[in-house]
Amino acid sequence: MTEERKVHTLAAGVSYIDLEFLGRRRAIASAILTGAGEVAIVDCGPSTTLSTLRARLADLGLTIADITHLLITHIHLDHSGAAGGLLEENSRIRVLVHERGAPHMVDPSKLVSSAARLYEGQMDSLWGAILPVPASALTVLTGGERITVAGRGLDVAYTPGHASHHVRYLDRDTGIAFVGDTAGLRVTVSGPPLPPTPPPDIDLELWSASLATIERWRPDTLFLTHFGPSSPVTVHLSDLRDHLEQAARWAKESLALEGDDREKEAWFIERMRRDLRARVSEPDASTYEMAGRFDLSWRGLARYLRKRA
Ligand SMILES: [Zn+2]
Repeated sequence: MTEERKVHTLAAGVSYIDLEFLGRRRAIASAILTGAGEVAIVDCGPSTTLSTLRARLADLGLTIADITHLLITHIHLDHSGAAGGLLEENSRIRVLVHERGAPHMVDPSKLVSSAARLYEGQMDSLWGAILPVPASALTVLTGGERITVAGRGLDVAYTPGHASHHVRYLDRDTGIAFVGDTAGLRVTVSGPPLPPTPPPDIDLELWSASLATIERWRPDTLFLTHFGPSSPVTVHLSDLRDHLEQAARWAKESLALEGDDREKEAWFIERMRRDLRARVSEPDASTYEMAGRFDLSWRGLARYLRKRA
């Protein structure tokens, strides 16, 4: 038994856990909200981390049967892949998801085939089973809702840019904003916030507007799926804007180079890797790349920039 804490408390009734994605620390976090006899999980992770989720719930004296809500920030598999499997075990769970993501939770076939194009032969080892969620279990969000979950008042806002179906949840009592990937990833507290920009939905204008939406809310803390709490919020968001601009600039420069897409992508990856390694240690850099692969980031930005050109 190690001394290391497995469940991190942010406030009364608000904690988070490390899903230890592929055995790696600080790649994917789930937040757990408890109160008023309810248990809500913000981003349950993929099926491949279900055993860790189960173990950490047990550390809190809870089981899958106790879960009442899944608050999904967006339907990318690292955030929501386990939802259908959890529903099979506990049909009482309500799944909150944006209206544009909802159809893909009921019928994940398009989501799976689009992910399979990105992850090729690795679908099973990365994500495991991707099961449908019954339509009757969904609470469909549009943004702007005020909801009460686990005894807390949460404000929902629509925050597209990273994904067209992305929402974030602000806990009004604690000032913690659960922002999914909208505020980027920051796997170590001393590291930079970097934007993951995979295909197919990247939209830099919408993303910038979503960052302004988050700013207007004045949260005290951002909670990132990759990974955990981050503050001060204004510094985080302005650093993220800088990195988003830089990534877009490099993607644009790569597109202007001679050569085919593989060479352009390789040039971008090299830029991003060198820049990251000047800022964080090698193990942290590889966790960053696991949570937000630079090859996929190039493809998302290239798609966006070409569409606009
Ligand atoms: Zn993610």
